[in-house]
Amino acid sequence: MVKSSFAEASTRLEQALKYVNISDDAIARLQYPKASVSVSIPLRLDDGSLQIFRGYRVRYDDTRGPAKGGVRYHPQVSLEEVESLAFWMTFKCALLNLPFGGGKGGITLHPKSLSKQELERVSRSYIDAIADFIGPDVDILAPDMYTNPTIMGWMMDQYSIIQRSIVPGVVTGKPLSMGGSQGRETATSLGAFYVINTILSKFDQSPQETTVAIQGFGNAGAVIASLLANIGYRVVAVSDSQGGIYAPQGLNIPSIRQYKLAKQRLQGVYCDNSVCNIVEHEIISNADLLSLDVDVLIPAALENQITPDNAHTIQAKYIFELANGPVTSGADEILEKKGISVFPDILVNAGGVTVSYFEWVQNRNGYYWSKDEVTQRLKKRMTQETETTWSIAQEFDISMRIAAYIHALERLGEAMDAKGTRNYYQQ
Ligand code: NAD
Repeated sequence: MVKSSFAEASTRLEQALKYVNISDDAIARLQYPKASVSVSIPLRLDDGSLQIFRGYRVRYDDTRGPAKGGVRYHPQVSLEEVESLAFWMTFKCALLNLPFGGGKGGITLHPKSLSKQELERVSRSYIDAIADFIGPDVDILAPDMYTNPTIMGWMMDQYSIIQRSIVPGVVTGKPLSMGGSQGRETATSLGAFYVINTILSKFDQSPQETTVAIQGFGNAGAVIASLLANIGYRVVAVSDSQGGIYAPQGLNIPSIRQYKLAKQRLQGVYCDNSVCNIVEHEIISNADLLSLDVDVLIPAALENQITPDNAHTIQAKYIFELANGPVTSGADEILEKKGISVFPDILVNAGGVTVSYFEWVQNRNGYYWSKDEVTQRLKKRMTQETETTWSIAQEFDISMRIAAYIHALERLGEAMDAKGTRNYYQQ
């Protein structure tokens, strides 16, 4: 049985706690989100009727700084899912040593069913509903599934209207023209690219002899496909919500991306076409893609994709979690027994929040960096934290996932204890 996403997150915490010496106070604080809001979001549809959506924002922990995390638009968004994602953000920010806590938000809706004007109205309506709960020093928003820079721009603008002043630091992942950072759009995948190269070089696995399958062809999946293909990795399969394509000799990633992009433009903010329409390939299902005999598997779509039900079918040697939570804890055990190494979401996809941090710093200073400067800083941080996590994994002979949680927990525990009052009661 697949555990709830919050139970999944807690399991990882419990596993890591065995190796970390942190206070009972810190452990107790990490059991529950600090604050959650659930709001109703009214939307006037183009036909004049009114529809109400459910929306959420969660601040899981803000000991190390303002909460930070994306906003997801998806029909499956629930408070429980948002809480789990905020929990993950807490660990991700600590792992990368960013001065942020963890937050997340979402609206339960099917964005592809809305027009561009309706999307703008619902995004502004969401900000109206949560404006008192967020802020550049409190809780900072960013893109996640089915949200993008355009939507972040609307959200920043709406918050600024409410505050009667321009507040670029409340939202990251904005368009460049509204205070976005160079390199933000591709940062998640570029960060993953540095992690993948750092790790595979330890196994003497060169790009030219490495085959890759990628589930999900959105912001994250399409960019990592290009980055890897550009330096010689053979990307043999990609998929989206409607299915996948497979070519053992390697896919032509630029032409697939061009196709998706062209159709997207025709369709407005969202593309409702599938990569399946590209020719010269074999059509496969998402289940087929996950079980392909490849060196590297990159889930870059949704959570809970590799579970105890299908873990035994996985043949890849290395799994890099570009999506949040694609491998369940039950699947972790099976994969470990099969000798498959899993590299965790909180490390692999942390490039996005790292450049979001850079964007927030630039917004506060009113001074903007070049793309090269952003890229160099991202590379340095991703490589450094990957190396430290690797050393912890080697030292305790544990998985990279547990090592990443240990590394983050040590930073979180230290910050919580520095704030704590327990010592007064012990005197
Ligand atoms: P996106 O909306 O741009 O793309 C999602 C992709 O997944 C689309 O191609 C969609 O068709 C595909 N998809 C949806 N359901 C699927 C299914 N059942 N099987 C296969 N493909 C499916 O979203 P994104 O920004 O690329 O995010 C993808 C994942 O990466 C999410 O888990 C997100 O939390 C994570 N992530 C993204 C960022 C970022 O900056 N974009 C940062 C950190 C983590």
